[in-house]
Amino acid sequence: MASVTGGDEEVSKKLDMKAYFRAGSAAYQLRDFSSAKTLFHCQLELALDDGNGRAMLQKTDTRLREEQHGDYAFDLITDKLSKANPPVHVADFTAKTEVKTSTGRGRGLFATIDIRAGELVLAEKAFCVPFPHEEQYFNGVKYNVRTGTLALGPSALWKEVVGKLHRHPSLLPKITALSGIWDDMCTSQTFIEGVAVIDSFQIHDIIVRNAYGASAPSKRQAKTGFGFQTPSEDLVSGLWCYASLINHACVSNTRRIFIRDLLVFRGARPIVKGEEITTAYSMSQNFDERQEEQEELWGFRCKCLLCVAESADPATVRKRKKLLEQETNTFIKTHQLRDTGPAPSSATVNKAEKLAKRIKDTYDAEGYAGVPRNAALRLQYRLIQARHDQRNGSECLAAVAEFFKLLAYSHVVVDEHEVDVRPGKGSVVTEEAVRAVGYAAEIMAITGYGRLAAKLEGLAREFYLIVNGMMDGFVGSPGHMLR
Ligand SMILES: [Zn+2]
Repeated sequence: MASVTGGDEEVSKKLDMKAYFRAGSAAYQLRDFSSAKTLFHCQLELALDDGNGRAMLQKTDTRLREEQHGDYAFDLITDKLSKANPPVHVADFTAKTEVKTSTGRGRGLFATIDIRAGELVLAEKAFCVPFPHEEQYFNGVKYNVRTGTLALGPSALWKEVVGKLHRHPSLLPKITALSGIWDDMCTSQTFIEGVAVIDSFQIHDIIVRNAYGASAPSKRQAKTGFGFQTPSEDLVSGLWCYASLINHACVSNTRRIFIRDLLVFRGARPIVKGEEITTAYSMSQNFDERQEEQEELWGFRCKCLLCVAESADPATVRKRKKLLEQETNTFIKTHQLRDTGPAPSSATVNKAEKLAKRIKDTYDAEGYAGVPRNAALRLQYRLIQARHDQRNGSECLAAVAEFFKLLAYSHVVVDEHEVDVRPGKGSVVTEEAVRAVGYAAEIMAITGYGRLAAKLEGLAREFYLIVNGMMDGFVGSPGHMLR
């Protein structure tokens, strides 16, 4: 900007125009979109018809809409996804959240306004996320001196973050401000002979605590019917600095998905202004496994509504639940209760109902009021599918209603006359919930309940947006699932 002359002659104007354009482009690259907009305006005042300036201003306006309103064109973003494509070019959206102290948990993110279920909570581009097809990607064997264990896994993130900090030392405070495992690590910058000192072990420590395991999405997502992003062989890890401030809850109020290097959070249920934003770090449904993982990786024991309920289970009940889960798995396998399997017999369905009841009986009604009954979900979902396959509309609807009660929905009416389900404070939405409602929609359409079917499909769409982050991959046609 020092080269701007402000002169009136044609030659000065031309030089100034160039300077504004370059400065605007630099601000855009540095993701300072407000400054970029001002600079492109300055440029266009001198050369109204400059095509490059207009194009950049248009792009900048799009980034500002994303940054200020979370106004993302997700379909265009996913349309352009391919291995060869560079990262997603969008702005971050953090306007609905703020950083505050979370009692006993360091910093956390809090809602600055009321947020509806399915609404965008935040979106952030990664500080760094190496993908398997990229040259710098590699797996490494690491020995953990703390736990005395050897593990093979993606190691490029550590190397890439350290490399990025070497190239841009001004970014170091952003990273060292994140919590690590070791206390009292240095957060100030030290320079020796003009070179920033980066403690690569400290960076590793921070990455272990703060990285997210992300799926590397592709167009395969849209081809597999309901394109839920599930952890797969493409699982990678990346660092999202702002989102890493979100604290954990097993029954979290958001769901997260990854669109390449963009991390997106949506409300899993209504979030009120001032409420802390939470996400589930570990996905295990088993209480003991989950607690163990949380303790080892993040150094805490979760005390969310679900953990309070599950920790109150006597050891004998926990053991019974585990045995029943094993019995369920065997039952589902033996009777081929799967998405593409044959329709089950009435005898099989009767047996499944009895097994489901035994699982539900392990739950203490009072202790589990308002929290999901995870052990019962798998079989209940298969029962919905079975009723669908038997073309039994009313039983299918009843099974769906039961499923939402197990997910801890506070208000559940699903019958031939009405569909009304409302989330509770500890309720969750799962991929199966989308399919469950989809099955019910399909059977009601077949049996002549068109209005009800449309309502159920609308509900399936709402849930799909929550669990998939965007509508990409949603298949609305009832025939899709019909066996
Ligand atoms: Zn918990």
